Amino acid sequence: MSLQQLADLIFQDIDKTPEYYIQKYPKRSLKEGAKVTRYAPSPTGFQHIGGVFAALVSERIATQSGGIFFLRIEDTDQKREVEGAIEDTIRTMNDFGMTFNEGMTGQNASIGEYGPYRQSEREMIYKTFAKDLILKGLAYPCFCTPEELEEMREKQTAEKLTPGCYGEYAIYRNISPEEALAKIQKGESYIIRLKSPGNPETRVQFNDLIKGETSFPENNQDIVLIKGDGLPTYHFAHAIDDALMGTTHVIRGEEWLSSLPIHVQLFDILGFERPEYAHIPTVMKLEGASKRKLSKRKDPESAVSYYKEEGYPKASVVEYLLNIINSTYEEWRTENPSADYHDFPVALDKMSKSGALFDIIKLNDVSKHVISKMKAEEVYDLYTAWAKEYDKEMYALVTENEEMAKQIFNIDKDGPKPRKDYGKWSEVREKICYFFAPLFKVETKEQAELPKNMSLEDAKSIIEAYAKVYRYDTDQETWFEELKALAIELGYAADRKAFKKTPEAFKGMVSDVAGAVRAALTYRANTPDLFTIMHIIGEEEVRARFAAFVE
Ligand code: GLU
Repeated sequence: MSLQQLADLIFQDIDKTPEYYIQKYPKRSLKEGAKVTRYAPSPTGFQHIGGVFAALVSERIATQSGGIFFLRIEDTDQKREVEGAIEDTIRTMNDFGMTFNEGMTGQNASIGEYGPYRQSEREMIYKTFAKDLILKGLAYPCFCTPEELEEMREKQTAEKLTPGCYGEYAIYRNISPEEALAKIQKGESYIIRLKSPGNPETRVQFNDLIKGETSFPENNQDIVLIKGDGLPTYHFAHAIDDALMGTTHVIRGEEWLSSLPIHVQLFDILGFERPEYAHIPTVMKLEGASKRKLSKRKDPESAVSYYKEEGYPKASVVEYLLNIINSTYEEWRTENPSADYHDFPVALDKMSKSGALFDIIKLNDVSKHVISKMKAEEVYDLYTAWAKEYDKEMYALVTENEEMAKQIFNIDKDGPKPRKDYGKWSEVREKICYFFAPLFKVETKEQAELPKNMSLEDAKSIIEAYAKVYRYDTDQETWFEELKALAIELGYAADRKAFKKTPEAFKGMVSDVAGAVRAALTYRANTPDLFTIMHIIGEEEVRARFAAFVE
């Protein structure tokens, strides 16, 4: 009885050797320095902002080096699979400006020479390598029942030992091929475990591209390679896939850092060259004074869908994520205000080692800046696309008054400091609703924000007088001169200086008169330039609002 017979019995359907696959997937011929990275989600259907963050780091590292960025679907835990999740992942990443050079392109489609790119379709490959490890005495079938595992754990806890299946505690590690064969023939169920050659007394040195130098004890756990359902564990699949797919840089969440001893051991045992690793910090948020992980359950902003619903442009989210990826991004952006973000070189060694702090207020600031840089046409297009789904009333008003809407979105766009009115599309309504007669009518003049120390009655008499002299067709300068002349006539100071000198001589100053006009037309104290607003609203509507105000 030999290991060969045992391996043949366990893997009856496997007729290939590792060599076959190693030749089938030759080393990639890429230019010097080109990096191969991947995004490897489980198809659970939930798009976490942390996923976009991780994918963006991987994509930037690959693309900026002229390398390959591919999509691998890790569906070995089939209970978690959700229909449509693959398409959804691809769409999400595309929306955030990332494209995959290789990998899954749909539920059942892929491109690239290193596939299949879906783990459930790679079963034969994993089994081929597992079979080879059995032949080499580096893996074995383990027949542990849940009770046996529990007993082992209790014993280890009582003796204050590291729990797990290893060394002398691994019951089936050293049974003979005959015994194993007999058990299999009797129909006992089993899984395949690694027969770990590691010694925890030995330390392994490792350089993580983000975390820096680390060292850890060699792995001595007989970890599971193939589960009862015939599919591999994450560890085994990771080693085989990333080796055969030619990944040069494994960029993944730091929750995997503690498994690194297992992974480097697997690469060594399988005879593969180890990739570089970069473990990226978990996306955290501040709660009170303490940081915690963004939670899928508690934090709506953990879901990618949140940004869509709130109306954050994708470009803003990407811009913001780059800010957390590298703290040097902000400075770069100041120096290169209109550069394409692709020109910024993302550097792994400049990433925060501890935690990526996610902050919606900061995102909003970044987004205001991004939107302020957009042309009015683009703002219009993005806003209407959002409103069509999330604010039907605004959608109708804006599209029925397309020209006017574009004029509104164009206010103070030119010049070195464009207006920063909105960070997300859901903020637009509040900022622009008064332009639209049907929405303006809903508000009442009692709510109007008047200049300090001005009563509604004062404001009414100003408007009454102003309506008589107001001329629509004039330039901004003349318009203001005429407003000023009226102000003086009504007993207001021509400017702040004059007012400051003898406040008791005046009712206020010209800005208060302008404030009354602003209030009559918008009910607001803070708006963009008044002259521009009047021109966008149009003469007829301006006069109608004056009339309604004094009524
Ligand atoms: N499927 C793993 C996860 O969802 C991927 C980790 C990796 O990138 O290797 O966390």
